[in-house]
Amino acid sequence: MSPRFRSVLDRFQAYKPGKTAVSADGRSYKLSSNESPHGPLPSVLTAIASAAATVNRYPDNGCTELIAEIAGHFGVPEDHVAVGNGSVVVAAHLFEAVSEPGAEVVYAWRSFEAYPLLAALAGAEPVQVPLKADETHDLAAMLAAITPATRMVIVCNPNNPTGEVVRRDELIAFLDRVPKDVLVVLDEAYREYIRDEDVPDGLTLYRDRPNVAVLRTFSKAYGLAGLRVGFLIAHPTIAEAIRKVYLPFSVSSIAQAAAVAALKAEDELTTRVEETVKERERVGHALRDQGWTVVPSQGNFVWLRLGDRTVDFAEACERDGVSVRPFAGEGVRISIGSVEDNNALLAAAAAYPHRV
Ligand code: PMP
Repeated sequence: MSPRFRSVLDRFQAYKPGKTAVSADGRSYKLSSNESPHGPLPSVLTAIASAAATVNRYPDNGCTELIAEIAGHFGVPEDHVAVGNGSVVVAAHLFEAVSEPGAEVVYAWRSFEAYPLLAALAGAEPVQVPLKADETHDLAAMLAAITPATRMVIVCNPNNPTGEVVRRDELIAFLDRVPKDVLVVLDEAYREYIRDEDVPDGLTLYRDRPNVAVLRTFSKAYGLAGLRVGFLIAHPTIAEAIRKVYLPFSVSSIAQAAAVAALKAEDELTTRVEETVKERERVGHALRDQGWTVVPSQGNFVWLRLGDRTVDFAEACERDGVSVRPFAGEGVRISIGSVEDNNALLAAAAAYPHRV
C-alpha cells in the first residue's frame, strides 16, 4: 500500500533534468532557459558576499528593504508590492489565493508551461485558449471563455515561448471588459526586453484597475535566475493577499540583498539588456535570411514553430553543442545568449536541412 495522493498529480511527471548539450569537440551553448548570458555584476557579487556573512540568521521575513527598494524604483507605494521565491511562486500564490473547488483560470495556450501545474495544484480548472495563427493572444476568445466561475485571467506579455505581444489598445479594451471581480494577471517576466512602443507597461495600467496585478522577476533582465526572486505590483488588497500566503522565510537573505543591489545597478543592466535586444534582432533577421519563419519577438528568445520537426531540430542543435527548448510537436524556443552562443545557434540552424 502506498500513501494516497491527490489524483490530479497523475496529470504531471516529475521534473527530469535536461542534459546540457556538448558537441563532440567539447563546445556547449545553453539557450534553453531564457536566462541572462552575463554573470553577476561586481556590485551584486559584493552584496551577495556580505549577505553570506550572516546566513546563520533567518532572512527578513517581511523583505522590508527589498520591498522599499522595488517601490522606490518603480514609483509605487510599498503596500502595492509583494515578493516571492521567484515569480513562479508568486504566480502559485495568486492561483492559491483565488482558487476554490470549481474555480476557473483562463490563459492563452501555448504559454508559460507552469500555468497548468499551478492551476492543478491550487485545485483550479485551467481554461486554455489557443493562440491565434499568428501566435498572438486571442483576447476575444479569452473574454468569451470567462464564466461566473472564472477567478483569474492571465495575459503573458510578451508571451513565453512565442515572444508575441498584446498591444495597448487591445489590452485596455480587454481589461475594460473583464468583470471587475476577476483578477487579471499581467505576467511581464520579459518586460525589459520590449522595444515596441505600442506595448503598454502594466504599471501604467494597474493604477486605475484594482483587479489587475503585474508580475515581474529578477530572473531575466536582472540576471538573478539562480537566486529566485520575483514580485508583484498591484493594489493593496491583492498585494496583501499574496503577503498572507507568503511561505515563511522563502526568499533568502542572499537573494534579497542581491535583488536590492541589482535594482541599484540599473544602468549597467540596461546596457546588457540592450545588447540582448540587438542580438535578438540580429538572430531573427539571420534566421529569416536562412529561410526560417520567425515571428517577431519582444522577449529574450525567439520561437520557431516546427511542428513534427521540433525534436529532430533540437537534437541536431544538441549535436552542435547548442541546447534549445523543444515543445514536442509544436516548436522550439531559442534563448538569446552571447554573440558566440548565438553564432553557434545560427551555424546549427544553417546546417539543418529542412527549413520552414
Ligand atoms: N513568467 C514567465 C512568462 C516565465 O517565462 C517565467 C520563467 N521562465 C516565469 C514567469 C518565472 O520566472 P521566475 O520564477 O524565475 O521568476
